[in-house]
Amino acid sequence: MLKDETFAKHAPRIKSISVESDCVILRDNVSGRIIEVAIRGGELACQHCEKGDCIHVGFVLSMPDVYDMLESKGAKRRFL
Ligand SMILES: [Zn+2]
Repeated sequence: MLKDETFAKHAPRIKSISVESDCVILRDNVSGRIIEVAIRGGELACQHCEKGDCIHVGFVLSMPDVYDMLESKGAKRRFL
């Protein structure tokens, strides 16, 4: 049990795997699933939750790389 608790404490819930020009691939460590968040016209859409405001989208928005990319695609200040 102790090992699991340590893992839960230190492992981030979501980890980014890859940032593409039109999507971001994440791994959700809670569900164990690979999640794709699509970037379309400066908007983010989680393909797993089919939402634009789930925890995965929130995570993607917290990544500086993605923020820069969205900004370069004309999504300036949309998420601020
Ligand atoms: Zn999601």
